[in-house]
Amino acid sequence: EEQKREWLVPLAKGSKFGAWALTEPEAGSDAANLATTATAKGDEWVLNGAKRFISNGSLADYVFVYAREPGTKRHEGLSCFVVPKGTRGFSVTKVETTTKLGLRASPTADLAFEDCRVPKGNLVGKRGNGWEQAMRTLNNGRLGIAAGAVGVARAALEAAVKYAQQRKAFNRPIGDFQLIREMIAESAMEIDAARLLTLRAAHMRDLGEDNTKEVSMAKLFGAQMAMRVTDRAIQVHGGYGFSGDFDVERYFRDARILGLYEGTNEIQKLIIAERVLGPTAKK
Ligand SMILES: Cc1cc2nc3c(=O)[nH]c(=O)nc-3n(C[C@H](O)[C@H](O)[C@H](O)COP(=O)(O)OP(=O)(O)OC[C@H]3O[C@@H](n4cnc5c(N)ncnc54)[C@H](O)[C@@H]3O)c2cc1C
Repeated sequence: EEQKREWLVPLAKGSKFGAWALTEPEAGSDAANLATTATAKGDEWVLNGAKRFISNGSLADYVFVYAREPGTKRHEGLSCFVVPKGTRGFSVTKVETTTKLGLRASPTADLAFEDCRVPKGNLVGKRGNGWEQAMRTLNNGRLGIAAGAVGVARAALEAAVKYAQQRKAFNRPIGDFQLIREMIAESAMEIDAARLLTLRAAHMRDLGEDNTKEVSMAKLFGAQMAMRVTDRAIQVHGGYGFSGDFDVERYFRDARILGLYEGTNEIQKLIIAERVLGPTAKK
């Protein structure tokens, strides 16, 4: 409760900004391969390692960093630590904004920890419970991404509808052409399907039920759907859709991240299959 008061309240109010650091150069989909270490020394934890692709890592007031106690492997010995901006030994080694395909308003940062000391009290929750915490956080985050997929797709469809009503070719609004109407219909249907998958997963969360499979379905379908819908929106705009003068090219670029972060499309398929088919023989 004390930790929630100190860190969560300002984050929720928006007076402080946070970042969440799990991924490393050698630990993306295989997050349990993470190598950043946290060593208990006196009243402190000493962190050493590197994090990759951390959203807003260069801006955050606090970074929530996953690290393992030396000598532990895979899911064991992991904990989450709060590292405030400016802590000695913590540095931002790279920031990418406008050079990446999309999501250019959100800086993506690489972080380094070199004998970075934080007080014992900066360990979040229970010592050694980091894997479970990370999976729970990802499950909630994926629900937000599924909703984001619906959002970007809705914006793309709205733009396509408006354009189809205004643009004329062969003396008629292009929205009269059946091939254009088909694109609009397909997009409207897929957005609704993604929205319903998302609402189901969110409802299950409200009921306190295990929604892991349903969240993965909503995120996977949402990510795939958003690519198709934003692509169609460009198609409806013709060459203007490719130019920087209309928003649809940005929607298309921004949608691409949805199937990559917080678990790629392939990882969501593995999660769904495990729950439908059972675990694979080889773990
Ligand atoms: C813009 C951006 C923002 C991000 N923000 C954050 C953040 O805030 N915090 C954070 O911790 N991370 C963040 N990430 C990292 C992101 O979550 C990882 O990039 C993602 O999990 C994939 O890891 P990877 O890039 O190492 O790819 P890899 O794991 O190397 O995957 C490469 C390919 O192999 C496939 N693959 C891997 N394993 C399997 C398997 N078992 N079966 C089938 N296919 C497989 C993948 O699906 C993918 O197609 C961000 C990434 C980006 C690009």
